[in-house]
Amino acid sequence: MLLPTRRTVLPRGPMTTDDSLELRYRARSLWLDGLAGSLTPRPPLPGDVACDVAVVGAGFTGLWTAYYLKRLLPDLKVVVLEREIAGFGPSGRNGGWVSAGIAGSWSVYAKSHGPAAALRAERETYRTVDEIARVTALEGIDCGFVKAGTLAVATSTPQAARLTADLERARRRGLGEEDLRIPDAAELADLVHVPNARLALYSPHCARVDPARLARGLADACETIGVTIYERTEAQEVGRGRVRCREGSVTAAHVIRATESYTTQLPGEHMRYLPLYSLMIATEPLDDRAWSDTGWRDGLTIRDRRLLFFYAQRTVDGRIAIGGRGAPYSLGSPISEASERHRGVRERLERTLRSHFPAAAGAAVTHHWGGPLAVPRDWCMAVGYDVRSGFGWAGGYSGHGVLAANIAGRTLTDLVLGRESDLVTLPWVGHSSRSWEPEPLRFLASRAIVGVLASADRYEDRTDRKARRTALVTPFLQPS
Ligand SMILES: Cc1cc2nc3c(=O)[nH]c(=O)nc-3n(C[C@H](O)[C@H](O)[C@H](O)COP(=O)(O)OP(=O)(O)OC[C@H]3O[C@@H](n4cnc5c(N)ncnc54)[C@H](O)[C@@H]3O)c2cc1C
Repeated sequence: MLLPTRRTVLPRGPMTTDDSLELRYRARSLWLDGLAGSLTPRPPLPGDVACDVAVVGAGFTGLWTAYYLKRLLPDLKVVVLEREIAGFGPSGRNGGWVSAGIAGSWSVYAKSHGPAAALRAERETYRTVDEIARVTALEGIDCGFVKAGTLAVATSTPQAARLTADLERARRRGLGEEDLRIPDAAELADLVHVPNARLALYSPHCARVDPARLARGLADACETIGVTIYERTEAQEVGRGRVRCREGSVTAAHVIRATESYTTQLPGEHMRYLPLYSLMIATEPLDDRAWSDTGWRDGLTIRDRRLLFFYAQRTVDGRIAIGGRGAPYSLGSPISEASERHRGVRERLERTLRSHFPAAAGAAVTHHWGGPLAVPRDWCMAVGYDVRSGFGWAGGYSGHGVLAANIAGRTLTDLVLGRESDLVTLPWVGHSSRSWEPEPLRFLASRAIVGVLASADRYEDRTDRKARRTALVTPFLQPS
């Protein structure tokens, strides 16, 4: 369902290819729809090309990698190949949470590298919020970056118990009051008014952005410093030293695969991730009175602690954008535009909007969209680079890639340039997760996760008691 959009103007006269691409790209998210200017793709690969570094994918991972490489070594010839346009994928569609915290499981990394390494990784994510602020300011990327922290709100006893457990675990791991705390009633009232909030946890380590403006601004910044971006150019084979496309081949000393969930569409990579859809809705802009009733501090991101939790932001132009998981994928084509909208998820998000932000209850929902997350079997991100072949990759952020992709880009830069840094010894470097079970097991696992968690949430909302049925899918969930 394509809902009315802000900037989409149906062309007069016969539709050209550019017109239909423009409509298709804008329909992918509120953020892409809201971009000023045209979304006409940059020119495609003109034929065979040789370069130093070829990056496949112009999302955050690919763009940050290209950006830091070129900034550090201006003479390097860096080429980015993108199947659609920069920011077409989840980088241009996400919740806009630049949120710190390990993109994966603390316990998995602590087991492989020790608790001190996991704590160091966590602290690196805190610094990265400020690194993204630094670059957006330096490059003049106007993406609505506001660092006001993040709040998790519990509206039931089981949710409050999970928040308490989160806090106790964080304390055991070495995180202090300055990283995570329970706000008192006055501070909570100063952050937001959520009816029936039983308990909340606040962390200052999060910023809000308009993700498409960040991705597109980053692509422009890359070009300004000399990176070449070819759009509407699909990599058909991403190999060592060479990327084969329909238009020609790119030979490079270093090839970086930055295709996150779409990696599963490449030959031999089908089972690397579970492509799990996350979907969002956005309201029309709210008036000043509604904002004053919600008391929602600008830039603060908000979530709950349901099992299929929601995540929300107050947008730069005064809307509420709220998302959640729960959309099933189809066995034949796990990644498809048909999976980006789902009536059940939309209705659930609308109910959450009304219950948590009553001042927005009457606001029209103008946009509904979504995209695929890349979930590895152990839910842990990885950055990899093979020195002998010059082949690198990063991804598997399990829905936390806005910030993690910046770390990945800086890390890949150091790995490609052979720089010894603190980044290249972080626990996700060289991490490898086993593959998902073969189909139809992966499909059944994803259906079970969504079905069981959704029914557990309904049970907890109804009874205010902890649902025990989640044990059925624990083997497939993220270890804490
Ligand atoms: C609805 C939603 C909400 C989310 N909310 C948040 C959030 O608030 N905070 C957070 O941290 N994370 C969030 N995420 C996850 C986050 O968006 C991703 O982890 C992150 O954007 C991944 O960036 P990437 O560059 O690795 O991949 P992508 O953004 O997927 O970029 C990959 C690019 O590669 C291109 N590509 C694919 N195949 C090929 C090919 N064969 N040849 C050439 N190009 C190709 C694609 O077109 C795409 O542009 C959310 C995701 C979704 C879907």
